Amino acid sequence: MPKSNAQRVLVVGAGIAGLTTAWWLERAGWDVLVVERAPAVRTGGYLIDFFGPGHEVARRMGLLPALELRRAPITSVTSVDARGRRRSEISAAAYETVADGVISLLRGDLAAALRADVRAAFRFGTSVSAVEDGRVTFSDGSTGEFDLVVGADGVHSRVRELVFGPSSSFVRYLGHHTAAFSFDDPELSARIGYRYQMLTVPHRMIGCYAVRDGAMAALMLHRSRSQALPADLVGALRERFGDLGWVAPSLLSLLPADIYYDEVSQVDMPSWHRGKVVLVGDACGAVSLFAGHGASLAMAGAFVLAEELAAGPDGAFSRYQARMKPAVSHTQEFGRRFIGWMAPSSRLRISLRDMAFRLSERPVVRRLIRGSVMPDVDGVLTRS
Ligand SMILES: Cc1cc2nc3c(=O)[nH]c(=O)nc-3n(C[C@H](O)[C@H](O)[C@H](O)COP(=O)(O)OP(=O)(O)OC[C@H]3O[C@@H](n4cnc5c(N)ncnc54)[C@H](O)[C@@H]3O)c2cc1C
Repeated sequence: MPKSNAQRVLVVGAGIAGLTTAWWLERAGWDVLVVERAPAVRTGGYLIDFFGPGHEVARRMGLLPALELRRAPITSVTSVDARGRRRSEISAAAYETVADGVISLLRGDLAAALRADVRAAFRFGTSVSAVEDGRVTFSDGSTGEFDLVVGADGVHSRVRELVFGPSSSFVRYLGHHTAAFSFDDPELSARIGYRYQMLTVPHRMIGCYAVRDGAMAALMLHRSRSQALPADLVGALRERFGDLGWVAPSLLSLLPADIYYDEVSQVDMPSWHRGKVVLVGDACGAVSLFAGHGASLAMAGAFVLAEELAAGPDGAFSRYQARMKPAVSHTQEFGRRFIGWMAPSSRLRISLRDMAFRLSERPVVRRLIRGSVMPDVDGVLTRS
């Protein structure tokens, strides 16, 4: 229970960063209100590899057993050709030695595990329409006064737009669109199994894997010169991927109504705070799916913000940004370099990527990969 004289914080967005912020701030005695645009905490989504500093934050929150229960039992990442034949493979065991302690799980499962342990007040189906320092007008016309406003509303943050200016000033488009969705199909699910299988042709990638109880999840990625999203998502996906072979026709015939579809972008802004408003997670530092680590950094950012606020409000936002931003920038840089691995631009590059997969079974190569492609972000949790 918050103390009656507790400071009031509004957290906008019940995603990974928002829920983690709520968790730490309510335990530090803040009176927390979370508003979320969606009617409930978003479920499902796409598979994320969760490791690094966010994993350590989850350990400190006592959340790891709940995450282990939700772990997707992926046994390998397999590159296949247009007839579904294996081209190359990296085993989960080899991958785990590159990414220490990695837990693969659906983003929605991470959010659900966080939500289960947050006691704050929630208002779903609600956004913000004006933020003037601590004075907030909500989308339903009601207002509130807060000591702190945390914008945790993701890569297209409304709080950022209202307080810092248009997204176009901060968003770096990485030249790709992505779609993710899940659906039930026991037959296809059994056929694909727990191998994350992916088919890559120049500038396009399609991946899928069984999740549980006959369900499947799929990810599509393609290059697009235009940052604007198509009006007809289903039509656009059919046009882009219809010729790909393998399970593409099945996936395209099973597209559900609630597809996640977005541009692939990073967010880079000089300051993450203004007055009583501070941003956390993708809202201020999206690294993109090319980098991975976004959920991990979102949790680390929420933890560091709460830790700095507890250490003393004066300068807390600056200290938070000083600790987090170098790791975020470093990971963004890594993400931009990784585009060519995840969405190779030519058949030669696809072959090179597949060769790296095959070689990754060798410990010496794994050590090299770990040193050269994994961003070093572990230092952020240490207060100097
Ligand atoms: C395909 C894909 C694969 C990825 N793979 C990985 C991976 O392997 N590892 C990893 O660590 N990360 C990965 N990420 C990144 C990761 O999902 C994000 O970085 C992470 O979810 C960011 O957390 P967040 O809380 O800042 O934003 P989000 O998780 O996006 O949450 C934002 C929340 O704010 C809500 N919201 C939005 N606008 C408003 C508004 N106006 N008012 C109120 N609420 C609002 C949204 O509904 C949502 O609930 C991947 C991302 C994608 C797209």
